Amino acid sequence: MSSPEPATLEDLTTPPKTVLVVVAHPDDIDFGIAGTAGALSAAGSHVAYRIATSGEAGGPDEMDRAELKALREGEQRAAGAEVGVTDIEFLGLPDGHLEFNVALRKEITKAIRSVKPDVMISQNPERRWDSVFASHPDHLAVGHATVAAAYPDSRNPHFCPELLDEGYEPHTVPEIWVGSLTPVDVFIDITDSFDAKVRALSSHQSQVGSMENIDKLLREWASGVAATNGFPDGMLVEAFRRVRTI
Ligand SMILES: [Zn+2]
Repeated sequence: MSSPEPATLEDLTTPPKTVLVVVAHPDDIDFGIAGTAGALSAAGSHVAYRIATSGEAGGPDEMDRAELKALREGEQRAAGAEVGVTDIEFLGLPDGHLEFNVALRKEITKAIRSVKPDVMISQNPERRWDSVFASHPDHLAVGHATVAAAYPDSRNPHFCPELLDEGYEPHTVPEIWVGSLTPVDVFIDITDSFDAKVRALSSHQSQVGSMENIDKLLREWASGVAATNGFPDGMLVEAFRRVRTI
């Protein structure tokens, strides 16, 4: 079988000025997005992370919840620093209880109106039946709410109008890059940021401490995405689906 025609890499010579990444939990970014965050940071984008929860419903099960919350926030800040991201805030929503509702849309709208991104990156709102691990209910909720916040909420002054009184002026997000949503059409070359991505994921010791061969796993994923889409051997790629909202 012949190789597929190579897809086109996203041109980062003129990178988006500001990129807002919204996910449910600490570590979500570092499995599938951190290479892109690193590539964008290196290209000159300001990258901000807004993380809906602090992962306090995760393991280790015996750990005090407040202690785990602080630990996981610290791990995420360390992970961000590895890929050049220091603008990191936790929205303080309850881990494991996220729902696609107006309250979540409002929190993400506040983040959008504060950061004013040109591009957002978020999680797949569609359940994958081949991998329940990729479809945590919190991920689905954040994925859905991010799209709703990008269109129409954050640009609509009549959505939660009290936000105007609080200083959150409307902002239009032109596009979202959605992780793990097919067909993918945004391809980011993460070859140069790959080692930093491995260090970023490795920063989440409370979650990945027992995982062996993080480098090997991430390399297999990224080289697989590259090969599937016709990029040369040796290139490492993260891919997303572009959702335009204007
Ligand atoms: Zn997660």
